[in-house]
Amino acid sequence: MIEVRGLHKRFGDHVALRDVDLEVSRGEVVVVIGPSGSGKSTLCRCLNRLETPDAGEVRIDGAPLPAEGRALARLRADVGMVFQSFNLFQHRTVLDNLTLAPVRVRGLSRAEAEERARELLDRVGIGGQAGKLPAQLSGGQQQRAAIARALAMRPKALLFDEPTSALDPEMVGEVLDVMTGLARDGMTMVVVTHEMGFARQVADRVVFMADGEVVETGAPAAFFDSPASDRARDFLAKVL
Ligand code: ATP
Ligand code: MG
Repeated sequence: MIEVRGLHKRFGDHVALRDVDLEVSRGEVVVVIGPSGSGKSTLCRCLNRLETPDAGEVRIDGAPLPAEGRALARLRADVGMVFQSFNLFQHRTVLDNLTLAPVRVRGLSRAEAEERARELLDRVGIGGQAGKLPAQLSGGQQQRAAIARALAMRPKALLFDEPTSALDPEMVGEVLDVMTGLARDGMTMVVVTHEMGFARQVADRVVFMADGEVVETGAPAAFFDSPASDRARDFLAKVL
């Protein structure tokens, strides 16, 4: 469903991605791990063109990514993203956060969008918060609202860039539970995270990056129990 071939990305002299290949099948959960600065966010952002690669290509269902306009807006609806910092519209209610883009990009009526939004808020366990502003919610509730907002577009795939890193520890579990539920329901997901328990239990495949390259990829049990590369072994020794 997602195919990445020979991706390169530079920021000035710094090479952030070097010849990255990645394939994600429909319904697959790929967890991307690696040290700070290894290019995980950059890779994620190239998948829905929040970054423009210098070389290589990304295809979604066989089609290259559009560069601009309505096609790009539809791409970002098809391949939704959940950020560390929630990125909700702060001056809009939770309900509005979930209905604005489905009306504008997907062409839903306000009533259809609202019905879908309320179902999704129930599904992520914050049905009672629809009328509140994001700042009136806990961090965990805000992140669950952000996930529901991405789901409101009926995406083909979801990208998560460290979705629990900004949360107080007691709220990490409620967000990981929602993500685990999505994975079980067959959502195609690319998840950048430092939550190794989630990677081990939920990932179909783990991708380990270092210095802008995919160093190693494998099933979680094999990767965590017997990593093939020195760099992965060093990394796991620090984080496990
Ligand atoms: P972290 O775990 O800290 O989030 P990461 O693996 O997500 O790290 P990236 O954010 O993808 O790493 O960054 C890869 C490299 O590219 C880093 O050296 C970073 O400083 C650099 N970089 C990323 N975005 C930019 C940018 N907009 N301008 C300049 N350099 C950037
Ligand atoms: Mg990052």
